[in-house]
Amino acid sequence: MSPRRNEPRAGRSDRRPEPRDVEKAFGHQRIESAPDGDWIVRSVAGAGSGKTYRCPGCAQEIRPGVPHVVAWPADTEQAAWSGGSGLEDRRHWHTPCWNARSRRR
Ligand SMILES: [Zn+2]
Repeated sequence: MSPRRNEPRAGRSDRRPEPRDVEKAFGHQRIESAPDGDWIVRSVAGAGSGKTYRCPGCAQEIRPGVPHVVAWPADTEQAAWSGGSGLEDRRHWHTPCWNARSRRR
């Protein structure tokens, strides 16, 4: 009978990344200034989650596999990493809809 040993890696996961680490982790994102504040905009290739999103620009669905952008207020990023629920504020947009939004003003 051999006793099971616990994995030694427990207890290390509560270290939160610094904002600079986050910047590195999300390589394809940029910050855009808009009349309603700074937005972090990230291009999504389309593969991945398999979820269908609703574009706030045209109220149409963004189907899985369609390249689009994810945008959220820049100050939300900090809130998210400090334990808030800021990631809920992320919005998925069709790329043309997002571009039209920035040009509208
Ligand atoms: Zn749209």
